[in-house]
Amino acid sequence: QLPLIAICGRPNVGKSTLFNRLTGSRRSIVGDEPGITRDRIYGEIEWMGRDARIVDTGGVIPDDEALIPSEIFRQAQVALDEADAIVMVVDGRTELASPDMELSRLLLRGGKPLFLAVNKMDTESMQVQAENFRRLGFRNVLPISAEHGSGIGDLLDEVFDIL
Ligand code: GDP
Ligand code: MG
Repeated sequence: QLPLIAICGRPNVGKSTLFNRLTGSRRSIVGDEPGITRDRIYGEIEWMGRDARIVDTGGVIPDDEALIPSEIFRQAQVALDEADAIVMVVDGRTELASPDMELSRLLLRGGKPLFLAVNKMDTESMQVQAENFRRLGFRNVLPISAEHGSGIGDLLDEVFDIL
């Protein structure tokens, strides 16, 4: 059984964009379409000659604000149960939001290897903003742009290092 990497985070932070970049597939749905309800989406990734599975936990989160918190936390719990490493994604262009803080607390309590990907850092000058997210308490904080691909190699180096 290949090791499993889980991607967690609240809606719209770029989980599916990251998943698609990592797997090179279009299996995870990206976009703002209302009412997307899908199952957890699994793919495979190869990095430096090694293989892993990866899961986008956002697939099932319906576009209904009232349901979002409980669903994020349910997905995070599944990730803690089944994954070997967890990448929490936040939107580096927004202020640190309370769902991010609650989710990070849940994940940090879980004891699994954790990485914080501060997404949407599309230009080098934006990357300093990733520092704001250090307050969440993760040891590994990596600025990335899932859309443009920057920072992805460094993230994968760190994740595969502990698999
Ligand atoms: P999810 O709900 O967490 O799966 O987020 P999506 O992957 O569906 O992305 C939500 C929105 O953020 C989409 O409009 C993406 O195009 C956009 N997005 C994702 N990654 C980036 C990025 O690195 N930079 C920018 N500027 N936008 C991004
Ligand atoms: Mg998604």
